[in-house]
This record gives sequence, structure tokens and C-alpha cells, in this order.
Amino acid sequence: MTGARVGRDCNLCGQTFIEEGAVVGDGVVVKNGVQVWDGVSLANQVFVGPNATFTNDLRPRAARSLPREEFVPTRVEEGATLGANVTIVCGHVIGRHAFVAAGAVVTQNVPPHALVAGNPARRMAWVCECGQSLGDDLACPCGRSYRLVTEEDGLAPIP
Ligand SMILES: [Zn+2]
Repeated sequence: MTGARVGRDCNLCGQTFIEEGAVVGDGVVVKNGVQVWDGVSLANQVFVGPNATFTNDLRPRAARSLPREEFVPTRVEEGATLGANVTIVCGHVIGRHAFVAAGAVVTQNVPPHALVAGNPARRMAWVCECGQSLGDDLACPCGRSYRLVTEEDGLAPIP
């Protein structure tokens, strides 16, 4: 829609809808059948799987129309992946390089580098920027390694 912001080198597949007020960064992939509503922002290199669902109203009622300024924002940070058919309840942040497994329902913030699954989504593991799950040493075969900041703040790369 007019008023949506979409960055460079994005791949927006069939039946996607980017609403006025939505923000899509550079290099973002949005697979088929996804609606990115006003209030949703996707940072650079975010992957959104097919039929993922965003929301922007915590108490929708047919009889009331929420003014734009009361939409509840959702932010997906750089490099995060949302699997097929996930649901993101609005008002949450999906951290950098986090991974939301297919079908998960996100009802709280997802820390950077967390792998979450289920309904409600809970953390199952930590994941590397490359997508590989990490062991207790937080070192990946790809050469990257991390330190745990806190459970809420997730992992930070070790340079
Ligand atoms: Zn890796």
C-alpha cells in the first residue's frame, strides 16, 4: 500500500500484503500469504515463512475500530527468522538472529539468538547467526562464538 516502506533487494512472494505504516528493511524475504500490518517493522535480512501471522490489536472487536495511533507495535530485528505459520501476538520484539520454529505462537519477547517453539513459544536452544543450534559452549562449526548476556538479552557475538 501507499505509505508502506520497503527496502532494497527484498523478495515479497505471492499474496503478500504490506500495509500503510508497515516498515520492511533491506534484503527481507516474505514468503507467500503474509500480511505485514501497520505497526509491524521488519529489520534487514529478516525471513518470514509462508502464512506467518502478525497482529496489531490486542483486544479486537468487530464493533470498534482502533485508531492508528493505538496499534500495538511488533518489531522483528535484523536477521531473525519466523517459520511457516507462526503467529506473533503484537507488542513484542523478536531479537536479532532469533529463530521462531514453524507453527509457534509468540506471546512474549524473543531474546536475540533464541530458538523458540510451541504454543506459547518457549526457548528450546540458542542459535548461531548462520541458523545452526548451539551447544553449551555457544561455539558454532561456522567459526562464530557467543557469550550469554542474560536470558532476556540473549547472546552477544564474541569478536
Ligand atoms: Zn554458525
